[in-house]
Amino acid sequence: VVRDAPTPSAKRRLSLRDNTSRSRSLAPGGPIPEGVEGLIGNTPLFKIKSLSDETGCEILAKAEFLNGAGNSPKDRVALSIIQIAEEDGLISPDSGDTIYEGTVGSTGISLAAICRAKGYLAHICMPDDQAEEKYSLLLKLGAVVDKVRPAPIVDPNHFVNRARSLAEAHTNDPEKRGRGIFADQFETDANWMAHFNGTGPEIYEQTTGRLDAFVTGAGTGGTISGVARYLKPRIERLKVVLADPQGSGLYNRIKFGVMFDPKEREGTRRRHQVDTIVEGIGINRVTRNLEAGRQLIDDAVRVTDAQASAMGRWLVEKDGLFVGSSSAVNCVAATKVARQLGPGHTIVTILCDSGTRHLSKFWAKAGDIGGSNEMTLDAVLTA
Ligand code: PMP
Repeated sequence: VVRDAPTPSAKRRLSLRDNTSRSRSLAPGGPIPEGVEGLIGNTPLFKIKSLSDETGCEILAKAEFLNGAGNSPKDRVALSIIQIAEEDGLISPDSGDTIYEGTVGSTGISLAAICRAKGYLAHICMPDDQAEEKYSLLLKLGAVVDKVRPAPIVDPNHFVNRARSLAEAHTNDPEKRGRGIFADQFETDANWMAHFNGTGPEIYEQTTGRLDAFVTGAGTGGTISGVARYLKPRIERLKVVLADPQGSGLYNRIKFGVMFDPKEREGTRRRHQVDTIVEGIGINRVTRNLEAGRQLIDDAVRVTDAQASAMGRWLVEKDGLFVGSSSAVNCVAATKVARQLGPGHTIVTILCDSGTRHLSKFWAKAGDIGGSNEMTLDAVLTA
């Protein structure tokens, strides 16, 4: 039984939204996409040759970094949140209304780009320990950026709480221009539904339903829940596996079904206190978006920072692929799942963003490939 079934109005939106993230036509001679919104969704699925050759499985990656507004899967989510808010009459295009969000970067970048295109202002609250290039990018996109000290989710200064209270204050402040809304990516159904309507059906069509495992990390949980909810009822044998990075607290909860204790909203380990180089995935609480698909997740795989770094270098060396930290984690986990399943299986994972967004943090630590050809996949997986 899937908990958190959509409410009747969410169901209505589910059908209304059916084509939103699929409007891009990649076929030559097809309609020309309109604006950056037209460049969101319908991303290619491709085979990672080195990992497939080494494992005897097909390891396929959804190139989500090719979404054309903010260059990550968060384009789908940001567009979905904005479209639903417009439909509900909470904001209107070209009004200068403000969209507030708490984000570690990707959602903020997607919101900032789409806000520019549609005549809104983006106000982004972000922890101050993220890669420097993400702040610069947000400022270049004209967003207001609030850097806050990393704090537990129960703290009013946590970046999500800060964004929520600023949105509330905006609404009550006659001096502020237009209206203010809180995008609320961690808790809104618009998030997992964007993947249920876009990412999931695209993977199904691109593989013609022939896949054995879907493997990805969770930042809000929107991707894993939305894709799982679309694919699981259609592919009986499908295993959905969570890729959990160092410092995250989800592994035991998913792997051993340790029940979520509401008294323990943040869990016992606090990711903000753990020094890690992976950004965008790994949480210590069960968000509404993770809860939406939690019971459909079959297994979890742990990935260390060292394994993610080694995989980042491997993908450059063997495939010419320069990916961000969460994509590297996903590839480690997908390869571990391939090894568990054995040759002949098809595994799909997500490449969320490019390494260019992680130069100053993940790649600064991961290092250069250095021209050595001695790397083995076993060494990557056990680094
Ligand atoms: N990768 C990156 C770079 C991200 O920023 C995020 C979201 N914060 C994710 C992966 C995880 O996606 P989701 O929020 O859907 O779990």
